[in-house]
Amino acid sequence: MTEETDLKIQNLTKLYSLVMLKSKEAVTGYYILERLKKDLGKTASPTYVYDFLKKLKAEGHIEEIATEESKRSKGYKLTLSGIDFIDRIFSRFDNLIEVAIQSKLEICKSCGVKLYGEFHIETIHGEEMNFCCEHCAKAYKISLHST
Ligand SMILES: [Zn+2]
Repeated sequence: MTEETDLKIQNLTKLYSLVMLKSKEAVTGYYILERLKKDLGKTASPTYVYDFLKKLKAEGHIEEIATEESKRSKGYKLTLSGIDFIDRIFSRFDNLIEVAIQSKLEICKSCGVKLYGEFHIETIHGEEMNFCCEHCAKAYKISLHST
């Protein structure tokens, strides 16, 4: 049960390796390293990437496959369990991205709706406050006076 901890996807190199494995029939460690450099400008340690592939293989998520490059570098393809694993990881990251966006959203001080794009900012008693529209700002100011 504890093996799962070895497969935490806690950085871009691992995540991108999974993206590569999902996007192509057969992937070599060499190919992943090249794409990391080309696409993300990231120079990853070959040992790190190969170790990660080894772990994925040990978990049964990928299997070795013959490729044209395979004399230089082993080729791998996803197994059914690997496809399942990647889908779970990706959906977790989807949630993370959603949470990150949500937490950045401001809400209208008056009615509480989430504020996307343009909204109304007003300084009240020296404090900048966000509203969805000027009517909400007005309503908020009136409510301040009535208390
Ligand atoms: Zn509002």
